[in-house]
Amino acid sequence: MKIKIINLIILIVTCFFIINTNSTATIIKIDNFSIHDNNLNFFSLYQDISKISEIIQLVNESLLLGYLEDLVEFSPRTTGTFGCEKAGEYIYEKFVDMGIETKIYNWESFGNKYNPRFFRGKSIEATLKSNNKNEEIIIFNAHYDSVKRSPGADDDGSGVAAVLAAAFVLSKFEFNRTIKFLCFSGEEEGLLGSKNYSKYVYENDDTILVEFNADMIGYADTEEDENKFRIYGTQDIDWYVDVIENLNIQYDFNFDISRRILSEDSSGGSDYYSFSRYGYEAIAFFEGQWNQNMHTKNDNIENMNIPYLTKISKLIIASIANFLDLEINHPFVYIESPKKGFLYFEGREIKKLKDKKDDQLRTIVIDEVGIWVDVFSDINSIEKVEFYYNGRIQYTDTDYPYKWQMNKLSFFNHRIETIVYDSKGNTASDWIDILFFNPRIGN
Ligand SMILES: [Zn+2]
Repeated sequence: MKIKIINLIILIVTCFFIINTNSTATIIKIDNFSIHDNNLNFFSLYQDISKISEIIQLVNESLLLGYLEDLVEFSPRTTGTFGCEKAGEYIYEKFVDMGIETKIYNWESFGNKYNPRFFRGKSIEATLKSNNKNEEIIIFNAHYDSVKRSPGADDDGSGVAAVLAAAFVLSKFEFNRTIKFLCFSGEEEGLLGSKNYSKYVYENDDTILVEFNADMIGYADTEEDENKFRIYGTQDIDWYVDVIENLNIQYDFNFDISRRILSEDSSGGSDYYSFSRYGYEAIAFFEGQWNQNMHTKNDNIENMNIPYLTKISKLIIASIANFLDLEINHPFVYIESPKKGFLYFEGREIKKLKDKKDDQLRTIVIDEVGIWVDVFSDINSIEKVEFYYNGRIQYTDTDYPYKWQMNKLSFFNHRIETIVYDSKGNTASDWIDILFFNPRIGN
């Protein structure tokens, strides 16, 4: 009974804090786990060579240019305008014509503190189901909205053309995993369509292994730039960027690829961030060079390089197809509970919380809570799962289900991180920032 009264007081104090503070998370990095894996098993990382070759063949200039020309017809495709609405309808019809299961997600969202308006839009989703009961999902997305006064040919007509071409080509084959093709609007207003969608799939517990993002992939104005390609990925999926580098050589694209690790806690320039902020792995593709026409009336088809767009799209689609059949030797780890964006009381999920104005997800835990971790991988190959509080190890679990009962005396914002280790020495991690109000003195 005593505990209950304490909890009630803490609840009132918490509400006071939620209303009055905009406290930021304590970020402590853990720097002692390995990023790179040198034990790539090349036999299982590469799929059917003839299948991939055929896919590469089917992606061609006229296919991509056709989609691009159609999209630019609706420009400018600013979110909330007739042009954007028409572009969405066009994409929907294209997916339906391909015979793929297609769905529209209507969304409504307040922009953000820099763009304080209300927006409405549609996310178009086409699902190519796996040929078996595998529930793992791969996402490939781009955004069909543009800024005002811009044709939005490269930004991001190029990415949408690649997504449509991927759907058209890949729907002629069968794969071991499900792929969802997504075209979002609201990107230019603050990643609104993708934020809405990623929240939905996260709360629905969909098993998304990777999100592939294509935004501005068709501009190269010199011969030197035609050889450049940028691929950014979150840390746990960096091993697959190694695989893409190998596909790049194996299938004679020979791009000079520059890479970067996408940080999951810093806001990003494209829709991938909507996924990575929930802890999903993301790989983002960009042209190698800065496009000075971006967000201007000069972002038109004449200023694009269609052979370059085609070559990049071929490698992107080959990389996605390869992943769809891949025998994965790397673990994926997600903190299953507490969930980002929820309030917990006495270990139970109480309610969904509204996003903060600064756009950060917030999670509040009152009293102690169980930290549950889900691992996607061959469960027998998992050696241990470690749990950290502000960068300090608290608990190691070696048996499924993986869980740490977080019963420390704790107030304010703290980061909980988990690292999974498999028997091949691969690691993966996930984290969550939690506003704690736990008055109990535990271990
Ligand atoms: Zn863009």
